[in-house]
Amino acid sequence: MAILKIAQIGHPVLRQPARELTLDEIKSESIQRLVDDMIETMRDANGAGIAANQVFQPVRICVVEVRGNNPRYPYKPEIPLTVLINPIIVPSGTEMFSNYEGCLSVPNIRGVVKRATQITLTYRDRTGKPFSAVVEGISAGTFQHECDHLDGKLFIDKVEDAGTLCSWENFDKFYKNAFVTAISEMVERNRLRVEEI
Ligand code: ZN
Repeated sequence: MAILKIAQIGHPVLRQPARELTLDEIKSESIQRLVDDMIETMRDANGAGIAANQVFQPVRICVVEVRGNNPRYPYKPEIPLTVLINPIIVPSGTEMFSNYEGCLSVPNIRGVVKRATQITLTYRDRTGKPFSAVVEGISAGTFQHECDHLDGKLFIDKVEDAGTLCSWENFDKFYKNAFVTAISEMVERNRLRVEEI
């Protein structure tokens, strides 16, 4: 396994829609190695997720995981390690919430993005098995952020009020307490139900 370099904003690979993988490709040694390396890279950087184009591979893979006491996102509930290949997200309903997001490819910037409160995800896991997941609450924002990467989109594209943009230091200093209070309902509603299809 290896820790990979993370593409930073301005690199064209972050703006390139990633391509789908075939079942044979998913099972190949090179894709299995890429998945292992993405997991290691995400954990090393304390990310909540990472998409393949963030490590310069424009293919439709993202990994998500939140473990206890993530220093970048201490208020986020845990998400078990989930490898999503060729994911499709469909919002359930029209309810949205405001999420303060950051990104390993956008150094030292956070900003408020509106996200669907409940989504249905379909994807293949790293063995190629198809799954369906219903995600509700703050974790739904994490999955939407990662899947946006695969379409060449960054969270800053969706920041409606540029006045919310801030450094991580200033987020902690000026916005964190109010945000943690505002998001508490979305943390309480957090739910992740995964089933094989
Ligand atoms: Zn990101």
